[in-house]
Amino acid sequence: MNEQYDALALFSGGLDSILAAKLAAGQGLSVLGAHFVSPFFGSARSLDRWWKLYGIQVQTLDVSEEFADLLARRPDHGFGKLLNPCIDCKILMMRKARILMEAYGAKCIISGEVLGQRPMSQRRDALDIISRDAGVRDVLVRPLCAKKFQPTAAEQAGVLDHGALLNIGGRGRKDQLALAAEMGLQEIPPAAGGCKLTEPETAKRYLPFISQLERPSPEDYQMCDFGRHYWAGPRLAAIGRRKDDNEQLGGFVRFDDAGLKLVRHPGPLGLLRRLDGPVEDQDVLEAAALAASFSPKACREGGKVGVSVRLRGTQTEVEVVPDREPPLGWSEPKVEDVKAWKEKTLASEAEKPQTP
Ligand code: SF4
Repeated sequence: MNEQYDALALFSGGLDSILAAKLAAGQGLSVLGAHFVSPFFGSARSLDRWWKLYGIQVQTLDVSEEFADLLARRPDHGFGKLLNPCIDCKILMMRKARILMEAYGAKCIISGEVLGQRPMSQRRDALDIISRDAGVRDVLVRPLCAKKFQPTAAEQAGVLDHGALLNIGGRGRKDQLALAAEMGLQEIPPAAGGCKLTEPETAKRYLPFISQLERPSPEDYQMCDFGRHYWAGPRLAAIGRRKDDNEQLGGFVRFDDAGLKLVRHPGPLGLLRRLDGPVEDQDVLEAAALAASFSPKACREGGKVGVSVRLRGTQTEVEVVPDREPPLGWSEPKVEDVKAWKEKTLASEAEKPQTP
């Protein structure tokens, strides 16, 4: 790592971010990529690969806590298709990038945004709001679509040659793929994807936390990657699907959660939590019955099975009959719930008295 760079590039690892960073590097600038990580996107595992494949040095920035705050206070610019607060997310990243840019003595921020590529965050008005609210208008350069905008102060100052930048727009990838071939990129990342807030499978699991807790923690969101999640009001029973799920879920069991494990039958690990207070005996019995219902052997044999319960430092055992539908009405979250919740939240926001 250098101590100083000319440009700080937002680097998701997607094709547009790679091309934008390489266009800046191609103009002779030393470029540092900033790769944001959180429970929803990003991974610190690819830094070496990116350096080898694309010749871009990349540093990770963990924004898990800031992102948990953002979701808790509800994004100023709303959600996209599911729980993705894209405009607020971009503002957050650009603000962080500006701080890093200054720390490295860099003169501009490079972004792979393309006008018109994404419905929420890459419309002209959204791009405008992002650069304004993040306070980066003077230093932000979007090399792939720079010619669709007036040169920014950084371009006017000659940090980058505006005339040599590009005029790409719209949703297709044709121009980007041609540019990647021209640059001789050894590997082209797949189109889009990568943000779990936009994926139905994960977004629907985040919702019970978001709608019931004042501020879910990054660990709450991380736990949504593992197991089947059944909810009955404020009660969560997370049940491992595979061996690695079981191992991962085991790491999320807190002191006040119940960790459930079948005693004499092979079966999944279960985690029981209540968001509104201590778990009760009835919760334990029902979550244990639910967990046991995922043991084919226990179901085949019929009758009661033993489930060990680890709760607040003590280990006990309960006997339950496997039951996929215990009385409290446990069910998996549905993607329709996300849409309904967003509508309700927006309606209640609109009803709040406006500050004069
Ligand atoms: S898709 Fe996810 S990572 Fe991308 S801008 Fe939207 S919220 Fe941020």
